[in-house]
Amino acid sequence: MRPATLAVHAGRPPRDVDQPLNVPITMASTYVAGGDLEYGRYANPTWTAFEDALGGLEGGRCLAFASGLAVVATVLDLVGPGETVVAPRHGYNGTTTQLADLEARGRVRALLVDIADTEAVVAACADAALVWVESPTNPAMEVADIPTIATAAHDAGARMVVDNTFATPVLQQPLDLGADLVVHSATKYLSGHADLVMGAAVTRDDELYGVLKGRRDLAGAIPGTFEAWLALRGLRTLPLRVERAQANATELARRLTDHPAVVEVRYPGFGGVVSIVLRDADAADGLTSGTSLWVHATSLGGVESTFERRRRWRSEPSTIPEGLVRLSVGIEDVEDLWEDLAAALPTT
Ligand SMILES: *Cc1c(COP(=O)(O)O)cnc(C)c1O
Repeated sequence: MRPATLAVHAGRPPRDVDQPLNVPITMASTYVAGGDLEYGRYANPTWTAFEDALGGLEGGRCLAFASGLAVVATVLDLVGPGETVVAPRHGYNGTTTQLADLEARGRVRALLVDIADTEAVVAACADAALVWVESPTNPAMEVADIPTIATAAHDAGARMVVDNTFATPVLQQPLDLGADLVVHSATKYLSGHADLVMGAAVTRDDELYGVLKGRRDLAGAIPGTFEAWLALRGLRTLPLRVERAQANATELARRLTDHPAVVEVRYPGFGGVVSIVLRDADAADGLTSGTSLWVHATSLGGVESTFERRRRWRSEPSTIPEGLVRLSVGIEDVEDLWEDLAAALPTT
């Protein structure tokens, strides 16, 4: 099956008479003993349906987690004492903060790199036990050369992980490009409606799958059943939503590039996230408080267009400009989105 078909058809109950088309929401802490399920922290049929669908789209075996950061914590916990993790300096804030926290407690060594500088990343891989890639990065929108970095990581005996939250499996399939593991914040595009928090990991490596499943069983970072059901419902329309958000983002990036108040547009040419740089913090705050359609809110990947001045967060690196606004372009009519933005942008 091709991705758009798979997104619609994967993770359904068997096609037998009187079976529902959709997987039921199984609310259960325990199951009759002697089978595969046993207990609610180990397994749930509603999670499994979501995992089958996302696993199909990424081309591996999937495990759902309580949140994107629960996956990040689980994966970073596999790094041995004192070993080195190579990661993007402009990666997702929570990931960078977890790494800094682990480093401060003497657990791992973190080596932050410019993920778009392939030569520097390859050189850094020599010492690594784990190479963490985000592409595009948040919010700088840098793009990594995943196949080259995967080869360098494997040559050094390291594992390579790609956070595929921004691109989604519709636009990028990291396992095909050589990654060992894909991680997701399902909170964003996968569920797509800004109504839940959930995470997922996907791998083709059965041993790694077993280790991660064991950690999930043990640490208990499991998703809610209703969240898994909603995420699967969202996943059904992922290819359509990504296609529309990308078309809108491409058009807005083009118009913003021509706008006199916009110093810089950062758009890698795919996906629904566009970062723009305005003159300073005041100009950016003026934009985020001046619209009626665009909502000033963190997070991304919903059907509705949102945006945010990233440096309002103290933890954002100082290499991100004060006037940078990250736009998560939704699926609305692009003319309405443009009119609302244009009216709130400074005139020069
Ligand atoms: C949001 C996000 C995360 C964290 O996921 P949560 O579901 O918020 O815990 C990780 N990586 C990226 C790229 C994200 O955007």
